[in-house]
Amino acid sequence: MNKKDFGENFIWGVSTAAYQIEGAYLSDGKKTSIWDEFTSKPKKIYENQNGQVACDFYHRYKEDILLMKEMNITNYRFSISWSRIIPNGTGAINEAGIHFYNQVIDFCLESGITPWITLYHWDLPQALEDKGGWTSRTILEWFSEYTKVCAQRFGDRVKNWMVLNEPMVFTGAGYFLGVHAPGRTGLKNFLPAVHYATLCQALGGKILKSLIPNVNVGTTFSCSQITAHSDSDKDIRAAKRADTLINRLFIEPALGMGYPVEDLKVLKKLEKYQKPEDAENMVFDFDFIGIQNYTREVIRHSYGVPYLRAKIVPAEERNVPLTEMKWEVHPPSIRAMIAQFNSYKKVKKLIITENGAAFKDTVINGQVNDMERTQYFIDNLNQVNAAKKAGLEVSGYFAWSLTDNFEWAEGYRTRFGLVHVNYETQQRILKKSGIWFREFLKE
Ligand code: BGC
Repeated sequence: MNKKDFGENFIWGVSTAAYQIEGAYLSDGKKTSIWDEFTSKPKKIYENQNGQVACDFYHRYKEDILLMKEMNITNYRFSISWSRIIPNGTGAINEAGIHFYNQVIDFCLESGITPWITLYHWDLPQALEDKGGWTSRTILEWFSEYTKVCAQRFGDRVKNWMVLNEPMVFTGAGYFLGVHAPGRTGLKNFLPAVHYATLCQALGGKILKSLIPNVNVGTTFSCSQITAHSDSDKDIRAAKRADTLINRLFIEPALGMGYPVEDLKVLKKLEKYQKPEDAENMVFDFDFIGIQNYTREVIRHSYGVPYLRAKIVPAEERNVPLTEMKWEVHPPSIRAMIAQFNSYKKVKKLIITENGAAFKDTVINGQVNDMERTQYFIDNLNQVNAAKKAGLEVSGYFAWSLTDNFEWAEGYRTRFGLVHVNYETQQRILKKSGIWFREFLKE
């Protein structure tokens, strides 16, 4: 497999997210986000770590963009920190924050790198969370205001946009399980968050389309291949419910199919938050759909889990190869997800907007010989290539991530970068996987 196999127009890039790399958490007028607040609470994050400094991308963006250039990377996906450009979430604009992203965008363009912006990668301004955050219907107004500011200020130079990053993860982990910011739990928080995120997904798309000429608008979804633990009817039905929740909940309403209530009855409770006009307002014809895949899940029936009546059989109990996240290494998953999203006729274009793996890295004589990560990329790309050869639509691949960074609840413990970061000195070292990617992209 080499780069040519994917065709001339295939899009190659790397992805990052503001809170995970920028640091400078209160610099130049920025106010706190839900992640600043959540990480300040004890015992939420591995060793109580936080993103206050992270990779210091705020001050080192030039160095990191130049690194990308050296690595032959031609597309860079990053997110905007809402609380950096509108510190209270709504109202006054912080020009210093706008200036920072203008510099990042301009330097990418000067370096021959096409910028791809994610509007929302989980760091809601804390001021909005204090007013209800994603559980408040007013988020529709706050989100349109924010989207308009981004479109008006950056849309002259940035043509590729993604509205949300993985709504299933930020609503599930942040508003149901409480393991991510803002740490809310239960259906009473999860269901309104799901519905308003679904509406914002389409609303954001419409606003970007109306304000930016020649825009390419997408949004991104987390997804995992779902395998039933056994071929018993119970496990197969449990796997179907899990697939509905994990892979279908947010895309189907956007495609005009409504919520997949038939296959997961508890979703009927979403009706409580729905207004008659919402059914139509959830729909948007995205130019592309971004899918982000890391692993697969094996699912078995369980009476112990309310509503879902299904649970994950942890990869650790299945005697399979694992990453540092304890996720199974299972490259066929990415091909299965490409196939599953291809089965929606209305999906015009599919881009892998994240894929990667955390493994333990050791620096020896100034080098990181991360053979497992390199192999992970090769095996996953082989699957993407096979999907393409089999006639499935897939138009691009973004590796997660450029550098090691703040991995949410895991803190800095798990490293996903093609580039190693020494968090004491902020020194960057291109890992073996980064060198491999550079050579692959050169061909
Ligand atoms: C997220 C990233 C995260 C990565 C690895 C995705 O869920 O978009 O922010 O770092 O997976 O966990």
